[in-house]
Amino acid sequence: MTLHTIERRRHGRQSVSVVLPVLNEAPSLAILLPRVAHMLERCGVDWEAVIVNDGGNDGLEDVVAQFETSWHGANVQLLHLSRNFGKEAALTAGLAAARGDAVITMDGDGQHPAGMLPEMISAWRDGVDMAIAAQHSRDRESWVMRSAKRLFYRLLQGGERFRIPSGAGDFRLLDRRVVQALLQLPERTRYMKGLFAWMGFKTRVLPFDAEARTAGNSKFKWWQLLELASLGMTSFSMKPLRMVSLAGVVISLLAIAYGLYIAAEKLIVGNALSGWATLASGMMLLSGIQLICLGVIAEYLGRIFEETKQRPLYILDRRVDHSAVGQTEQP
Ligand code: UDP
Ligand code: MG
Repeated sequence: MTLHTIERRRHGRQSVSVVLPVLNEAPSLAILLPRVAHMLERCGVDWEAVIVNDGGNDGLEDVVAQFETSWHGANVQLLHLSRNFGKEAALTAGLAAARGDAVITMDGDGQHPAGMLPEMISAWRDGVDMAIAAQHSRDRESWVMRSAKRLFYRLLQGGERFRIPSGAGDFRLLDRRVVQALLQLPERTRYMKGLFAWMGFKTRVLPFDAEARTAGNSKFKWWQLLELASLGMTSFSMKPLRMVSLAGVVISLLAIAYGLYIAAEKLIVGNALSGWATLASGMMLLSGIQLICLGVIAEYLGRIFEETKQRPLYILDRRVDHSAVGQTEQP
């Protein structure tokens, strides 16, 4: 038993916050909340649910009110962001509001099974700071999607001092110290998976099978996934920039070799110089490559621009706090 665990025990009853970012997930949440509550009570912890409404408008308040009346002793905080800021921002808002000794982040669509919660909490009680529930199989995803993700992780990793576990999503338990560390990270661009990996701490990966959504469709469109991938890449790897320089070197070498070849052909064989077709296609290829390279550099430039603006990650519209967890005085 580590010193840290002993410290936790001394506190008496442990408390756990469950952070649920939601964008129009009321039907799923109505099923999920009692399941989560049931699991957490079985673990014998004080618990609160921190629900972050990421600009949705679908009767979430009714679902929450119904849950609060039907579940005796439910502790719920409901945060409304002023518009849709994206899941990563919603998660950050939830983490900032959560008051538990440990915080569990979980999707509100029912794809993260509440049945994993006891296992995560017991890992935490063993002294693990971060328990990641990682998706076992991605059977539900298409072959193209799976290969694209694999390629992305391969590019992102390699030679770094920390690894981003592939398959790991945003279903995690974080010890209070990890939450505190995360909230201290100043960057505007929140590629959560990367940030968590960067922070280190004692981590355990627990595999699980993702469930099908209980209702509705995925809120992510393919171009948003691309955007997220670009965000992850530009905030955690300089590899694309190095590839740009490498491409420059390779193309220059090829051009020199080809130039020598043409000169030799003219001088030795005496062939007349022609070949405007080669010239035209070569030029087009090169300007294409140059534009791609500029695009790569522009991605990084854009990232720097975002960071220098120093805007808050999200804006809170309203906060309804019915949670007694972590409050010194009971209401
Ligand atoms: N979500 C959100 N803001 C967004 C998009 C999604 O809060 O802009 C929430 C969504 O309601 C769900 C979770 O993030 O609770 C995961 O989203 P989704 O199921 O669409 O993603 P997927 O499971 O396809 O990765
Ligand atoms: Mg989902």
